[in-house]
Amino acid sequence: MEPILELRHVTKAYEGFTLEDVSFALPRGYIMGLIGPNGAGKTTIVKSILNLVRIDGGEIRVAGLDHRRDEVDVRSRIGFVHENPRFHDALTVERAAAVIAPFYPTWDRAEFGRLAAEFGLPRRQRVRTLSRGQRTRFALAVALAHRAELLLLDEPSSGLDPVFRRELLDRLSGVIEGGHTSVLFSTHITADLDRIADYVTFVRQGRLVFSAAKDDVRERWVLVKGGTELLTDEVRARLAGIVVHEFGFTALTGDLAGLRALLAGAQLVVEPATLEDVLFYTGRRAHDDLRLYDDRR
Ligand code: ATP
Repeated sequence: MEPILELRHVTKAYEGFTLEDVSFALPRGYIMGLIGPNGAGKTTIVKSILNLVRIDGGEIRVAGLDHRRDEVDVRSRIGFVHENPRFHDALTVERAAAVIAPFYPTWDRAEFGRLAAEFGLPRRQRVRTLSRGQRTRFALAVALAHRAELLLLDEPSSGLDPVFRRELLDRLSGVIEGGHTSVLFSTHITADLDRIADYVTFVRQGRLVFSAAKDDVRERWVLVKGGTELLTDEVRARLAGIVVHEFGFTALTGDLAGLRALLAGAQLVVEPATLEDVLFYTGRRAHDDLRLYDDRR
C-alpha cells in the first residue's frame, strides 16, 4: 500500500537556512515523531506538507496525491494541530466549528460535539480566550471530527501541562488503532517518542540524519566507552559523536561489529543507547569532540 505521506528530495532555501534533499515516508496507520534541535527545519517540513511553505524542489505526496496539484483534496485529508492555533479567534467554539465544517466533506457534527464534551471545551467561549491547552484540544477535536487521514502536529505537547500531555499522547495512540489515521508530530521531547512513536525522523540543520522504525534505531545504535588512546581515525569513522571525560571517551556507534573487528582485544564497554542518547550523539559532528576533561594538556 502506498504510504500516507511521502517526501522525495524536498528542498527549501531561506536566507541563511536550507532544507536540503529531505526524503522519508510514513506508512498508513502509524505514528512518526519528527525530531531535531531548534531551527532544524521541523516546522518548515510540516508547513511544506500543507503548502503553507512553497518548496523549491522535490515532491510531497499525501495519500498518493501531489500536495500542490491536488492541494484542496490533500488539505481535506489532513488535520493540522499546531503549537498555537489561532483560527477564528473572535468566534465561540461552537460557531468556529460551524464555520470550519463546510470545508470538510467528511465532517461529523455529532463526533465534534462528543469530543468537545469529552475535552471539556467551553462551547460558548470565544476561541481567543481559550487557554493554550484548550486551543490544542479544540484543534484536535476539529481534526478528529473531520476524520483526517493524516494528523500533523507541530510541537503539540510543548507548553501543555503533564496531565494533558499524557492524555494527548494516549489519544494519538488510540487514533491510529483503526488504521484510518496516521500521525506525524514534531517534538523536542524524546520521552514522547519513547511512549508513542513507531517511526522516528531526525533532522538537523536542514538535513535528514535518519528516518527509521523506532525499534530499528534502538537495535542499531549502542554506546561504547573506552580509553582515548583507541581513538584512531579509523575508529572515529565508526563513531557518531565523541564525548571525552576523565576516564576515557563515550560515543555512539551504529557499527559495533566493525568497531569490534578493529579493536580486537581492546577494552571496550558496550551499553544500550536511549533515543535521547542517539539524538544527542548523532547531533554532534564526528571530529568535534565534546571535552568534559582535556587530556591533551
Ligand atoms: P524549533 O524547534 O525552534 O521550532 P524548527 O526545527 O521547527 O525549530 P524551523 O521553524 O523550520 O525550525 O526553521 C528552520 C530555519 O528556517 C530557522 O533558521 C528559521 O530561522 C528559518 N526560517 C523559518 N521560516 C523562515 C522565513 N519565513 N524566512 C526566513 N527564514 C525562515
